[in-house]
Amino acid sequence: MTHVEHLGIAVADLEGSIPLFEALLGTAVYKIETVESEQVRTAFLQCGPNKIELLEATGPESPIAKSLEKRGAGIHHVAFAVHDIEAEMNRLKSMGFSLLNEQPKKGADGKLVAFVHPKSAGGVLLELCMDDPEATPAV
Ligand code: ZN
Repeated sequence: MTHVEHLGIAVADLEGSIPLFEALLGTAVYKIETVESEQVRTAFLQCGPNKIELLEATGPESPIAKSLEKRGAGIHHVAFAVHDIEAEMNRLKSMGFSLLNEQPKKGADGKLVAFVHPKSAGGVLLELCMDDPEATPAV
């Protein structure tokens, strides 16, 4: 893993939370994107070299809806950038870490992502992410 790519923060209401985080970080949201497969709507803020991803559930089966129910709003996951997501998934699997998905999937912001179960990662939901070679580059 090369660096922390972003922090994911679960929010109950995206529109209501954007002004708060814009004020806190002193910067505007640069992208709002829905990820159908995950039933989430995301908003991204850039803070120096780091990104913050706000996540709102778009349906009751969304992992964010479940997280809000269990733990309330707050830090949801830490995402680490990797050069080769499949190699990294295999490395972690071979060491006994449990992954939440078998194959990398398309995440927000043109990334391929995979999640490591918090039970095998010290209570932290860990996201691996890599630039998706098939994603259309942002203009
Ligand atoms: Zn994320």
